[in-house]
Amino acid sequence: MIITKNPEEIELMRESALIVSKTLGMLAPHIKPGVTTLELDKMAEEFIRDHGAEPGFLGMYDFPNSLCMSPNAQVVHGIPNDKPLEEGDIISIDCGALKNGFYGDHAYTFEVGEVKAEVKDLLKATKESLYVGIREFKIGNRVGDVGYAIQKYTEDRGYGVVRELVGHGLGAKMHEDPEMPNYGKRGRGKKFIEGMVVAIEPMINLGTRRIKQLPDGWTILTADNKPSAHFEHDVALIDGKPQLLSTFGYIYEALGIVSEEEDEFKAQVYGKEI
Ligand code: MG
Ligand code: MG
Repeated sequence: MIITKNPEEIELMRESALIVSKTLGMLAPHIKPGVTTLELDKMAEEFIRDHGAEPGFLGMYDFPNSLCMSPNAQVVHGIPNDKPLEEGDIISIDCGALKNGFYGDHAYTFEVGEVKAEVKDLLKATKESLYVGIREFKIGNRVGDVGYAIQKYTEDRGYGVVRELVGHGLGAKMHEDPEMPNYGKRGRGKKFIEGMVVAIEPMINLGTRRIKQLPDGWTILTADNKPSAHFEHDVALIDGKPQLLSTFGYIYEALGIVSEEEDEFKAQVYGKEI
């Protein structure tokens, strides 16, 4: 059952989402060759607690850390460790925070130093597919419309769409109804309703869509060991339209990147007045 949120609850969810956004922004300048994912994890845990929140992933289903850290061929659910990141790596960081009884949960794939052009292209297309999907999260549409849009955008570019892991409703629980696959058929699945909040999160592979799991019981990686990208936003359905609760703006500010993607998204969704 989809649990909708009233406007006050959505504001609390925005607060939790923004703590995650700020955490990713805080980490961004530290993501360089030589840093370990465990060091970044500790920084994030402290930052989240300093903002009056609890790390959302720590202890959830017995996950041992605050961040899921998935470098290169790892898709999601990688466990932080003491291996330094290297020039040319990518690192997908998924972060959760719990405050006022609501979860924030989003993710960004960072470049470590200079990465190969084909990997840059994968990150760009995956992030673009996230917004393409979010634009379909509106009244009149269904779960399959978002999945179809993401699948079409990325498969048309030759990438593999992970099937086994999906986005989800978000609220007082990290994983609520409905599941939000990154593949699907137009007009299929549950209807979207006013006040629902979801985490939309394409996981897109450079090569095969097939995945495997490490013996640690957590880490998901690509079956062909080629890189995988993961971008995630928290989105509420307000006045029939998608509204971002999270932002990548803190990351761009920290890295000196000029990005108009979120403004463009708003202009597309709300028209030119914003
Ligand atoms: Mg996540
Ligand atoms: Mg999620």
